Amino acid sequence: MTGLERDLGEPAPVPGETMDRVRAILEGAQLTRYGEFKGEGSEVAALEREFAAYMGSRYAVAVNSGGSAIYLALLCAGVRPGDRVLLNAFTLAPVPGAIVHAGAEPLFVECNDDYVVDLQDLRGKAKLGARVLLLSHMRGHIGDMHGILNICNDHGIAVIEDCAHTLGAHWDGHLSGSFGSFGCFSLQAYKHINAGEGGLLTTNDEDAAARAILYSGSYMLYGQHEAAPDLAVFERHKHSTPNLSLRMPEVTAAIARAQLPLLEDRARIWNHGYAQLAKRLAQVPHVRLPKRDPREAFIGSSLQFSFEGLSATRIDNIVARCTERGLSLKWFGRAEPQGFTSTWEHWRYVHEAQPLQRTRGMLDGLIDMRIPLTITSADCALIGDILEASIEQTA
Ligand SMILES: *Cc1c(COP(=O)(O)O)cnc(C)c1O
Repeated sequence: MTGLERDLGEPAPVPGETMDRVRAILEGAQLTRYGEFKGEGSEVAALEREFAAYMGSRYAVAVNSGGSAIYLALLCAGVRPGDRVLLNAFTLAPVPGAIVHAGAEPLFVECNDDYVVDLQDLRGKAKLGARVLLLSHMRGHIGDMHGILNICNDHGIAVIEDCAHTLGAHWDGHLSGSFGSFGCFSLQAYKHINAGEGGLLTTNDEDAAARAILYSGSYMLYGQHEAAPDLAVFERHKHSTPNLSLRMPEVTAAIARAQLPLLEDRARIWNHGYAQLAKRLAQVPHVRLPKRDPREAFIGSSLQFSFEGLSATRIDNIVARCTERGLSLKWFGRAEPQGFTSTWEHWRYVHEAQPLQRTRGMLDGLIDMRIPLTITSADCALIGDILEASIEQTA
């Protein structure tokens, strides 16, 4: 069998017209959004305006990373040092990191075998005093939003959505990120818009938006924002909100703006690849694909499945064999973090030890692969063959 030539780690491409725009910014040397004497034509302000329009939200604030967007959402939701913040346990390290950045304590909620938050565990933990749920649509999996919001509404808990992998995805006809009080998005290289680094925060709350802008480091030049509340709202907060310097550079915004109109095309290509791959993998013994709610219109920029009935040693061997043949898989059940960390037990800076049996069992067999926009039918067939052969050969 030949090896896989396709690099599954290939990021989404930067469209050609970006080069001219970036060159013009560099030539003008106006690399920051805030002009001290003349603040016209900022790329970052335009990105915020376009992103708010895309999301159908009143306000959008651009920052330097997805983690920063989450951090600001937590502060604007009123999280104080020492507070507990609920989050689904299956997530990526920047998510608990943002909670700790805000001085708060992560309180993990179990995830089920379909990789989304377990409603029963959420119902129990909603009674433990947290006022915010930081809901991470991890690897693009969206839980039952109506069920989640009902529980949170019953307990006066605000929802912050981490949409790092669901930009452009929908649940029951509504855009992911439009359900909670805040939507947080990442523009990091491996997300749906590849600007290298960067983040966006959306909200309909005028006080939260003004504070997020002040926190993000607007000096007192917030008047140069477009997707922002009236100046009178800033008057209420400008003396009490510190500048945390989390600004997005002009070049980053120019790179992101050119990709916003491409989201729909990209979603179609990713979902086509996902469907082919899922169909082939469903035939492989020991592989279980998650059940996906018909209300979830996800974007298949990556694919997850669970190995069933295989020991940790065997999974380790299968992953090693696949890697030798050019198929790079991530295994979430690894005892030690390797290249990424998505296992709550690895985050020992969290003070409260929290055993989570269901999530542990789910992570033990969980495998992840990225889907590049260039994937072909032949690649999908070969991936299935490599995986199947690797499983057989390690028996
Ligand atoms: C990438 C990612 C983030 C954070 O994004 P950064 O821009 O890297 O800070 C948050 N949550 C999830 C699930 C992610 O995958």
